[in-house]
Amino acid sequence: MPSFSFHTTPRIVFCEGAAAELAYHLGTTAQDRLMIVTDPGIVALGLAEPAIASLKNAGADVRVFGEVEADPSLATLERAIAMALDFRATGVIGFGGGSSLDVAKLTALFAGSGQAIDTAWGVNNARGPRLPLALIPTTAGTGSEVTPVAIITVGEDEKRGVSSPLNLPDVAILDPLLTTGLPPHITAATGIDAMVHAIEAYASRNANNNPISRNLAVEALRLLGRNIEEAVFNGGNRAARSAMLIGSMLAGQAFANSPVAAVHALAYPIGSRFHVPHGLSNALVLPHVLRFNAADAANGSFALYAALGPHVFPGLRAEGGAQAICARFIDRLADLSARLGLKSRLRDVGITEADLPAMAADAMKQTRLLVNNPRDVGEADAYAIYKAAW
Ligand SMILES: [Zn+2]
Repeated sequence: MPSFSFHTTPRIVFCEGAAAELAYHLGTTAQDRLMIVTDPGIVALGLAEPAIASLKNAGADVRVFGEVEADPSLATLERAIAMALDFRATGVIGFGGGSSLDVAKLTALFAGSGQAIDTAWGVNNARGPRLPLALIPTTAGTGSEVTPVAIITVGEDEKRGVSSPLNLPDVAILDPLLTTGLPPHITAATGIDAMVHAIEAYASRNANNNPISRNLAVEALRLLGRNIEEAVFNGGNRAARSAMLIGSMLAGQAFANSPVAAVHALAYPIGSRFHVPHGLSNALVLPHVLRFNAADAANGSFALYAALGPHVFPGLRAEGGAQAICARFIDRLADLSARLGLKSRLRDVGITEADLPAMAADAMKQTRLLVNNPRDVGEADAYAIYKAAW
């Protein structure tokens, strides 16, 4: 058995209504000075108000940084760090989607260590200590509450990441009641993103692909596949929302230790050039990347996809051998995205055929992801995949 290592968040709390009892779950006292990192939408909805009230009732001083945007910028991060230092925060709480959680991670890190941001980009370049950190996701998709990565946009559209076990929070709080109001299109796109995390982790060629991640991926797909339609079309269903939140967390644990591959690599140019949300970008290329991988039998991915198929779609017909089951699985994934109301072609999100060559060249820069793909992807391959998706 090849060696591997596995990191995850040391404490995970799942509880309906946990946010409203946040002080209890965090053990908050009157000595605490807690900074909440969130986005303007959540501030406007008042979604964090019960959590803030709980902390204040316990005597804590609370300050809210509510300015995190999608694809958060370096300037936003710097403002958040400045607030944490000015407030003399004793702890940071990320409350929101992946962007808010990423900014919270790095605010806790840099406000705690004083390290210059520019010296921390990349893998394991961050020094501690960081401030105590709790992460509370309000979408079921990124799994950021259990991943060691935080992504920041530098300049126009350059994405830089800090990957370090220091970015794993002390505690993740999963409260499905925070997700019952998510609109269908966000539930659908973020849910498909979580499914992609599990599928890519399961089949990852990364040397650290490991049996823990593969088991987590299977369970994640079982929960996500059986509940995504209910969560999209009947958002108030708490059982479905719970399954999605736990499924996305399990998928996050899987890919944090067995990293994602070409679906994410090819999704990046769609997101950065055309400002398509991350989950939808993934959904647009998902079936086409899987078909490309499965078409080369030598890499064996068709057998892995065939093994996953019945977990996602319990009724998937099993006859005809692994290649046939794999093909049906990929077709069902494409159908699922369409049924959930997601756009299904690149042309639907404002991409023209003339854009495809530059996108393919751009995708080649994602070497850190492409090396994990079951099949080598060259620029001509990326172009062919985009063409199929167009
Ligand atoms: Zn993703």
